[in-house]
Formats: sequence, structure tokens, C-alpha cells
Amino acid sequence: MCRLALRRVESYLESISREGGLVDLSIRDRIRAAHGFCNEHAHQWLEQQHLLGTAIIYEDVLGHIADELRGLRFERRGWLSGVTSLRSLGGSGTGNRGPDALQPHRECLACRALAEAEAAVLDTLLGSLQEPEFGRAYAGSAGLCVPHLATALGAARDESSFAALIEVALTRHEALREQLREIIRRHDYRYTGEAAGEERGAEARAVRHSVGERGIRGLSRLDAGR
Ligand SMILES: [Zn+2]
Ligand SMILES: [Zn+2]
Repeated sequence: MCRLALRRVESYLESISREGGLVDLSIRDRIRAAHGFCNEHAHQWLEQQHLLGTAIIYEDVLGHIADELRGLRFERRGWLSGVTSLRSLGGSGTGNRGPDALQPHRECLACRALAEAEAAVLDTLLGSLQEPEFGRAYAGSAGLCVPHLATALGAARDESSFAALIEVALTRHEALREQLREIIRRHDYRYTGEAAGEERGAEARAVRHSVGERGIRGLSRLDAGR
């Protein structure tokens, strides 16, 4: 589920850049209102090296932020009130516009694509879990990371799917814990030198299993795609 959702984000960013997404003015408007992408997706975007697209988007975004900067008025506030009052001030309304006006006015488009992809994959998974053949395949798989498992459990359609999700997770956890115990055991000086078996890399697998792959944010808003 992590992989499918992340791949979807990657191809979404690709599509914005390469398939004429930026010709679509409504996408440009939305990206501008979001002040580009969030930190994580902006860096992902950079890694995907969309030179022209980056120039187009950020020329736009910086112009927009410059307009907002020009609209700011001095307002003396405590530090805390400055950081706690949120982006409601960021609209184009009248009234005092403090530094919060620099907050994005809408969600990062890639974050939204991620949430939509997660919802779609989860929907397929939960529908298929009721089919015996898929159920068997799922039982033999590594299952879901913990954040996606939590989401799936909350949306399971019947008791047997719910039980299957838990069963697979427990089997997975037991296998991982055994491998971790083996790493711990081998760390003991008396056993060093033994060849590493299937426990090799288990510590990283355990971390990834606990938090999801990099870029997954835990419980995404499932309603985002609806
Ligand atoms: Zn996951
Ligand atoms: Zn994002």
C-alpha cells in the first residue's frame, strides 16, 4: 500500500510537469494557492528534476508571496499569538493581515494525491479481502505497515476481513521480532562471527513496518478522495 501510494504521487508530479499539467491554469492556480508544494513534496519534486516546470511554478509562487508581503501591515503581537493564530487570516479579506498571511491557503496537491491514492488502494484491498483467493495471497504477504493497518482496520467491511488483517499483522510482527532477537543475540560477543541469516536488515524492516515507507504520514484523511 505504501509503495502503490508513493508511486502514484511520483507519477502525479510527473504528470504535472511533463504531460502539460502546467498548461492547465486551474492547476497553476491551485499550486499557487498552496505556495508550491509542502516541504517534503517540494524536495521530491526537486529530485525529479523538472527544470522548466519548477521555474514556471516558483516564478508564480514567489510573485504571489510577494503580493502578500506587500499587503502586510505592522501589527504588534506577542510571539505566541503570532504563531498560534492560523491561516484564517491568509485570505484576501480586509482586517489585519499578520505574517500568517504567508501560510499556504490550501493543501499541497501532492499530499492530496497521496491521500487519494491511499484511499483507492485501501478500497480495493478491503473489497478483495472478502475473496478467498485474495485472502490467501494476503495471508502469505508482508501485510500492511502499522499506519496503513490502522486505517484498514477502521474501514474493514466485515469481521473476517478485520480478523484477517490482525492475523497477518501478528504473524509479521512475530517473524520480525524473532529476527530482531537474533540480531540482539548475535551482538553478544560469544556469538559474533556467525553468518547473518534472514535477520539481516530486519531492524530497518521493523522501522519501516512501524511507520510506513518514507513519505507516508500515518493516518491520512480517508475522506480526501471522496
Ligand atoms: Zn503502508
Ligand atoms: Zn505535500
